[in-house]
Amino acid sequence: MSKALKTTDVIVVGAGMAGLTAARELNKAGISTVILDKRRAPGGRMATRTIDGARFDHGAQHFSARSEQFTSRVDELRNAGVVSEWYRADSRTTPGRLRESRFVGSGGMRRIPEHLANDLDVQTSVTVDKLIRDAAGITAVTGDIALARGSAIVLTPPVPQLLNLLRASNLLPGSSILDPLESVPYNPSLAVMATLDAPSGLPDGHLAEPSADVAWIADNQHKGTSQLPALTIHSTADFASAHVGSDWSGWTKHLADQVAPMLDGRIVHTVGHRWMYAEPRTTFDSGAIVLESDKPIVLAGEVFAGAKVEGAFLSGLAAANAILERSKPPGT
Ligand SMILES: Cc1cc2nc3c(=O)[nH]c(=O)nc-3n(C[C@H](O)[C@H](O)[C@H](O)COP(=O)(O)OP(=O)(O)OC[C@H]3O[C@@H](n4cnc5c(N)ncnc54)[C@H](O)[C@@H]3O)c2cc1C
Repeated sequence: MSKALKTTDVIVVGAGMAGLTAARELNKAGISTVILDKRRAPGGRMATRTIDGARFDHGAQHFSARSEQFTSRVDELRNAGVVSEWYRADSRTTPGRLRESRFVGSGGMRRIPEHLANDLDVQTSVTVDKLIRDAAGITAVTGDIALARGSAIVLTPPVPQLLNLLRASNLLPGSSILDPLESVPYNPSLAVMATLDAPSGLPDGHLAEPSADVAWIADNQHKGTSQLPALTIHSTADFASAHVGSDWSGWTKHLADQVAPMLDGRIVHTVGHRWMYAEPRTTFDSGAIVLESDKPIVLAGEVFAGAKVEGAFLSGLAAANAILERSKPPGT
C-alpha cells in the first residue's frame, strides 16, 4: 500500500467475509471506509491458491445459507455468477436440515471476497500492530507508520489476534465486557494441497472423515475450482493440535499417505498450509461488540454470530448497523 495516511470515516481491519460485508454496508449508506489486511489478497479464510496451474480451496470448503439475510445475499451472488451450488446433503450437525445446499465460489472460494472487494478501498500486505485513539480520531499504525485515520474502527481478526491488538494499543477496557473472549479456544487445521496425475475418482467429489487423522478431502476439479486434478486434504483438529508446530514435510506426507489408497489419480506434488485459527470452539450471538466511546471500536467476525462463512457475514452486517445507529442524528 502507499505510505500516505488515508483518512476515512471508518477503518476496517480484515478483508475476510466479515470486514468486506461491514465495509460494503457502510459504503452503501454513504460512509467511507478503508480496509487494511495483512495478507496479499482479500478473503481471509476464504482462500484459493494456484500451484502449477492446479487450483485449491485450502480454507473454507463450502457454506450453507440459513438466515433470510444471508440467503438473499447468496441469491444475488448466484445471479451475478459468483456463487454456485456444489451439492446438497442433510446437515450433520443440525437435525432436520435435509438436502441443504452447499455453495461454493464459482472458480474458487476466493472469487467471493474478490467480488465483494470490488469498488472498496482495500489495502493489502499491511499488518495493523497498534491503534491510537485520541482527539483526532482512531489511527491504525504499522511499526511507526500511520496507515489510516477514521472516527470509528471495525476489527475482524480472530479473537486472540484481536485481543493482542487491543492490548498492544492499551485499549482493553477495564470492565469485564471482554472477559468471555479471553478464553475462546480455536481449533487449528492443517491443509494439504495435493496435485494428482489423473482425476481423483471420488464419486461425490468429497469425503468426510475418510481416515483417522483426516477430517475432509475435496476434489477441486469436481467443485469447478480447478481445471486440473487437485485435492485438498484437511486434518482433524486433534492431529493439527499435535503437529501444527512441527516441520510441514512430515505431516504433509502423513496426511497424503492416508488418503492415497482412496484415489484413482496418483498424488504427484504436495504443499502444506497451517491455519492457526481455523474455527472457534465457542461462539456468541451478539453479532458484534461495541467498545463505547464517541470513536467506537467495533469487534466483529464469525465468532460473534455463530461461526462459519454465514456467521462472518451476519457479524459484518451487525458491525455496520452498530456504526450506522450511532451516526444517526438523535431522535431519528
Ligand atoms: C480449514 C478451514 C475450513 C473451513 N471450512 C469451512 C466450511 O466448510 N464452511 C464454512 O462456512 N466455513 C468454513 N471455515 C470457516 C470460515 O472460513 C470462516 O468462518 C470465515 O471465513 C471467517 O471470516 P472472518 O471475516 O470472520 O475472518 P477471516 O476470514 O479470518 O478474516 C480476518 C482477516 O483479518 C486479517 N488480519 C488479522 N490480523 C490482522 C492485522 N493485525 N492487520 C491486518 N489484517 C489482519 C486476516 O489476514 C484476515 O484476512 C473454514 C475455515 C478453515 C480455516
